[in-house]
Order: sequence, then structure tokens, then C-alpha cells
Amino acid sequence: MIKVESITKTYGKQKALDNVSFFIGRGEIVGFLGPNGAGKSTMMKILTGYIQMDSGKAEISGVEVKKDDIASRFKIGYLPENNPLYTDMYVREYLRFVAGFYPVDHINARIEELIEITGLAPESHKKIGALSKGYRQRVGIAQALIPDPEVLILDEPTTGLDPNQIVEVRDLIKNLGKEKTVMLSTHIMQEVQAICERAIIINKGKIVADAPVSKLSQQLNKSFNIRVEFEVAIDEAKLGSLGSVLDIETSGSVYNIKASNDIRKEISRLAAGNDWLILSMSLEQSSLEDIFRELTK
Ligand code: ADP
Ligand code: MG
Repeated sequence: MIKVESITKTYGKQKALDNVSFFIGRGEIVGFLGPNGAGKSTMMKILTGYIQMDSGKAEISGVEVKKDDIASRFKIGYLPENNPLYTDMYVREYLRFVAGFYPVDHINARIEELIEITGLAPESHKKIGALSKGYRQRVGIAQALIPDPEVLILDEPTTGLDPNQIVEVRDLIKNLGKEKTVMLSTHIMQEVQAICERAIIINKGKIVADAPVSKLSQQLNKSFNIRVEFEVAIDEAKLGSLGSVLDIETSGSVYNIKASNDIRKEISRLAAGNDWLILSMSLEQSSLEDIFRELTK
């Protein structure tokens, strides 16, 4: 698990993280979502012990995080942003090199296992520099898995990949998430929908939402948009007199009603009472993309 309590970090005058707290339980896959510059990489570098926080506290699986302290680092697999790799090394050579930093038994067997798990087998005889970006990400994920960490921290793992590679890497992450706690950062809402159960949204160094993906829309007090198509134009004033109606836009016999509640039943009753024929009626949910834009504008 990952426990973060009131972490603040400034670079000079730039506040990158402002009193950030969250908890990620064992086995969760959580998307750390925010626009560029929101503070995602900063948080991940703090959690992996690469940079120092100004104030606050973090724990990985019960071990307090301290900069350059290996106790917590052994519990974390980390794929940094831009996945820095030694392009001159062969895949196995590189994984063996990284394994040298960890107390790993049976290194060669472990490396073969990781090549299998990450789907690297068909390309594993090549130099890293000869691999496609998708396979390089697999090497990055394989090196993150070397210490068999409970927690995986992946910084923008699909940025820069082509659409097929994105799907493949997402599938790999979803599979790993069956056994591990995964925190992945992204600036793409669909990525969170595709992989994660929960989203923590960060903007300008502050958490602006933290909810299961399915409940995100409820976190915002959004209005309800109801689209009704009548057979013919009706008396708009009567529609407007329903409680909760905030606004009505009309186009022919189609009415887009903005309301503070879901008033579809009331609309049906009103229509029945006035002999208006409804051809269709739908409640338009605001998309997660809208929510993300709303929260981070
Ligand atoms: P994200 O990963 O969400 O794009 P970052 O954590 O990289 O965001 O950056 C958060 C903020 O901190 C940004 O405004 C960025 O410009 C600033 N920042 C990041 N790293 C440094 C640094 N080494 N020195 C100065 N400012 C930095
Ligand atoms: Mg970043």
C-alpha cells in the first residue's frame, strides 16, 4: 500500500505539491491523473526516494520513505517518465545489470520469468536501441519488476506509444495489477477509464478529486441535461414551470433541459397531462472527459 500524508514540495518559488494526502490500498490500480505540470512526476519521484519532500510523510507497505533510503525502494518497482534505458545494452544484459542493485536470488531464472511476463520473448535477443518504443516500455516494466515489488509506480507508461502499443501495454499493466498495487500517472482520462478502478485527480499540486472511476461524476455537483423530443413543439412556459428546471434550449420540437435534478418522471407526467407525445427522452451524463476538464481548468 501507499500512504501519503500532507506532502508539500516546492522548487524554488514553484509549488509543485501543496499538502497532498491519499491512501492506496493493497491490490488497487489507481490512476494519478492531471494535466502537464500538475505535480505527478514530482510525487512519484518522492515516493521512490529520488527527491526530497519539503514536509509531510509517505509510507510504502509500512516502511517510511526517505530520500536515498533503500528499505522502501526495495518494495517499489518504478518506471520513470521517458523510461531512460541503456540503448547499447542487450535486453538480458540490461536486466542483469539492474538486478545487480537488488538482493535477487537466481537472477537468470528471474530474468527469463520477467521476459515471459512482459511479453518480451520475441525481441529479447536484441539491443534495446533496436526495439520499438512499445518493447522498450516492456523492458522498463520488466526492470521495475525485478525486486518483485508489492507496489508498482509507473510514470506516464503509454505516452509516446502508437495505438496498438498503447493497448498492449495497458493490457500488461492490467494483468500486473491483479497481483500488485499499481499507481500510474497519465494526462489522459481514457487511460484511467481503460485501466484503473479509481482516479486521483491532481491539478496545480492539489488533489481535486479522489473517487472510484464509476463515481467521479457524483463528486461534482453537476446539473442534469435532459433531451426531450416531442412530436410537435409544445408550450415551453409549462415545461419551464417544473421545479428544478434551470434552463431550456429549443430546436424545433427538441428541448434540451438543464435541471438541478433528474426530472424525467415529472416531464412524462406533464406531457401526459397535456397530451404531448414524447418521441424520445434521454438523460445525458457528462462524460468523464468533461469532468476532468471541469476539475482542471
Ligand atoms: P507533471 O509530471 O504532472 O507534468 P511535474 O511534477 O513534472 O508535473 O512538475 C510539477 C511542477 O513543478 C511544474 O510546474 C514543473 O515545471 C515544476 N518542476 C518540476 N521539476 C522541476 C525542477 N527540477 N525544477 C524546477 N521546477 C520543476
Ligand atoms: Mg510528469
